[in-house]
Amino acid sequence: MSNALTLHALQQAHIERQKEWCPDQVPDLSFRGNEMAGETGEACNVIKKLERERHGWRGSRATKEQLAEELADVIHTAVLCAITAGIDIEPATIAKFNSTSEKNGLSFRLSALEPIEPETSLDERMKAAGMIPLSDLLAGKTPLARWMAHTGVRDMDSFEEWVAMKHREFLRMRVEYELGDKDQKDELYEWVFAHAAVFGEVAANFRQAQASVQTPTHRHVKRGTKYVLLGIGKMQAEHWRDISVDEDETALVDLREVAIYRSVDDDSLWARPREEFEDGRFEVLSQQGEQK
Ligand SMILES: [Mg+2]
Repeated sequence: MSNALTLHALQQAHIERQKEWCPDQVPDLSFRGNEMAGETGEACNVIKKLERERHGWRGSRATKEQLAEELADVIHTAVLCAITAGIDIEPATIAKFNSTSEKNGLSFRLSALEPIEPETSLDERMKAAGMIPLSDLLAGKTPLARWMAHTGVRDMDSFEEWVAMKHREFLRMRVEYELGDKDQKDELYEWVFAHAAVFGEVAANFRQAQASVQTPTHRHVKRGTKYVLLGIGKMQAEHWRDISVDEDETALVDLREVAIYRSVDDDSLWARPREEFEDGRFEVLSQQGEQK
């Protein structure tokens, strides 16, 4: 994995910095749009001065470094517009790049992680050696592929269970070697060790992906922050009371319903009496994260 900045990471960084910058104000889209137009104008002004120099015309000058700064501002303000409009800029940027390639009959495509290298040369060599080519192996076009898929895996939840099961299976075997129940010199040790590591990595990345793809279900009307309602739970509390009722037994909050929800900005978890969650301070969003 490279350490290159992703658009997703940039967007997250702006969300975090915004909280520190002006926690009590949420700039609206017209502010953000003007800000972006302003930075675009500043970049164009630097370009004008660079062109003036290229032509040898009289007037003030600018440098490539100044252009770099202004172009960076254009990117940052575009990301801020995306945040304000509730757009995830990375998939939008990838989709737009690929649709332009498609429209113009160009072969280069972006994928979310790394550009896909063509397999052609390895494919040819493997075919010549009587092997199933790499591209077929990667696409699952092998006689064994249908035996590899577990019949219990039908959706993302069952896939998550399957990954967790495989991880547990190999990790338990590995622990038996580590504890000395089995001899690390036997020929299966390396195999078990590698599988435990691979399934651990798949499970960790799958959990991370699951956490970030959840579409917000509610928006706090005043703050504009978005949340995923995880469910309605029951409060368990021996001593907590509802002081708005009175001091007797009926004021216990034990077993009262609470809404449990997660912030999409920082994954923090929150709980609130159900009646407060539903009293209008949150608005319900549709599947796409927009207001219903
Ligand atoms: Mg600027």
